Amino acid sequence: MATSTVEDYLKTILLAEGERGGLVNMGRIAEALGVAPGTVTAMVKTLAQSNLVDYEPYSGVQLTDAGRRLALHVLRRHRLVELFLVQVLGMSWSEVHREAEELEHAVSDRLIERLDEILGFPSVDPHGDPIPDAEGVLAQPQLASLGVCARGERVKVRRVSDQGESFLGRLDELGLVLGSTVTLIARDEAADTVVLENAAGQRVQLGLRAAGKIWVERPVGEPASR
Ligand SMILES: [Zn+2]
Repeated sequence: MATSTVEDYLKTILLAEGERGGLVNMGRIAEALGVAPGTVTAMVKTLAQSNLVDYEPYSGVQLTDAGRRLALHVLRRHRLVELFLVQVLGMSWSEVHREAEELEHAVSDRLIERLDEILGFPSVDPHGDPIPDAEGVLAQPQLASLGVCARGERVKVRRVSDQGESFLGRLDELGLVLGSTVTLIARDEAADTVVLENAAGQRVQLGLRAAGKIWVERPVGEPASR
């Protein structure tokens, strides 16, 4: 079994590759893992020797098929654990990412398949991130950023791309939670803000940068009157 450090590297590279694939810059890995660039280079060379990544000096790194399989497996464990912590243990979506960072390395395959079954074979985690299936297939839902929505648009919150506790806690306060319907009331480009109406009918204001981290399904029903 791979060490937790190996698993963290592979998962980080997978998330950095994103939908486009291609080489991941070493600096990006260093930043994501909070380690020195020299440490990353040494570790990546080890991963390349184990045939988990292809390493091209001065340009970057890319997962091999074996590396990708392992990374998807770690991501599956992480996201299923997060959902379990929220749905079964009643924890908040803002506190589970940190817990899952530890648990993703500790749970057995048997336990994970059992969790999957108990949770009803879910397709997304508490942040709306897709959960790779047992075969390692990762769906990519087509969603729009709330930051690009137009005035009057009614949309449903489906995913958030910032799992920081403070960001998610703020969304809780504003009533902008996963699955809720929101209407974009106004955009103020000069002030870099949007005004939204949350599911409870309250008007809340959000910075455009924060709105850009909320991913929505659009449109929901008829546009609200302007
Ligand atoms: Zn997470």
